[in-house]
Amino acid sequence: MKLYLVVPCYNEEEVLPETSSRLKEKFTSLISQGKIGEDSRIVFVNDGSKDKTWELICDLHKSDKLFRGICLSRNRGHQNALLAGLMTVMDECDAAISMDADLQDDINAIDEMIDKYNEGYDVVYGVRSSRKKDTFFKRTTAQGFYKLMRAMGVDTVYNHADYRLMSQRALKGLSEFKEVNLFLRGMVPLIGFRHTTVTYERGERFAGESKYPLKKMLAFAFEGITSLSIKPIRLICTLGVLIFCVSIGMLIYSLVRHFMGYTVDGWASLAVSIWALGGIQLLAIGVIGEYIGKIYLESKHRPRYLISDYLNDDN
Ligand code: UDP
Ligand code: MG
Repeated sequence: MKLYLVVPCYNEEEVLPETSSRLKEKFTSLISQGKIGEDSRIVFVNDGSKDKTWELICDLHKSDKLFRGICLSRNRGHQNALLAGLMTVMDECDAAISMDADLQDDINAIDEMIDKYNEGYDVVYGVRSSRKKDTFFKRTTAQGFYKLMRAMGVDTVYNHADYRLMSQRALKGLSEFKEVNLFLRGMVPLIGFRHTTVTYERGERFAGESKYPLKKMLAFAFEGITSLSIKPIRLICTLGVLIFCVSIGMLIYSLVRHFMGYTVDGWASLAVSIWALGGIQLLAIGVIGEYIGKIYLESKHRPRYLISDYLNDDN
């Protein structure tokens, strides 16, 4: 089996030497065990780094053909860099594994991923069994994020980041998704095919610092929700209906007060119309939003279906 490993790198000069030697060791042992073919490759994607990352990748490629490099014209962000790598190698490999350059995701899970691939799974998600090594802050924000995604109706694998194996046909499926706002961990479940998970312990970043500060994490979470869910629009509709109900409540209340002889002139009509108008406006925005949501989903040109098997004359 021809396995390609795709590793996006942004300003990773501090980790690359260590990462490449650990990965090489892993690949050499996998090749000698016969688990993967000798034509397997490790592909580093340089995401417009400002440091020596690309020079390092060039040196690695020169010294050993096991390593390959792809250089993006500028920094396009983790998700785009990852997709660029996967789409570039898609036609050559039987399966590709994506992983971060800092090796926070245990590379020993690769063995199990390959076993699952050989059992016939097309997508194998790497799932973190614990986050003990993460800071309290990162752990709570990340887990809150997974829960929020679920509440918003986005189908994601809990505690799975972008460490996963995808078979060639799963990659071809992914290539049918033409959207430019990428949130890969929400898109891969949409592809379908047989999938499973393997668990591992997430480690610490051994050098360099996180390229995902809070600001980027929040932007990423927002991207995930707005590119996969139109639930926020539906919430506006629901709010509109609720507020309209309040106005009816107000109407009944003020009528009761009127017949009991308590009301000030003009108060009832004012109060009721404020709530009624507010409710109707929100409802109207929600209805318009519903259509915009439809246009939004249409404009992504997602595949309507992917075929996994076809029993015809040839089989
Ligand atoms: N990364 C990238 N482009 C960016 C930011 C990050 O390619 O603009 C890469 C980075 O080099 C690393 C991976 O994405 O391989 C994950 O980043 P990091 O480990 O800093 O994130 P964390 O583990 O802290 O969430
Ligand atoms: Mg990391």
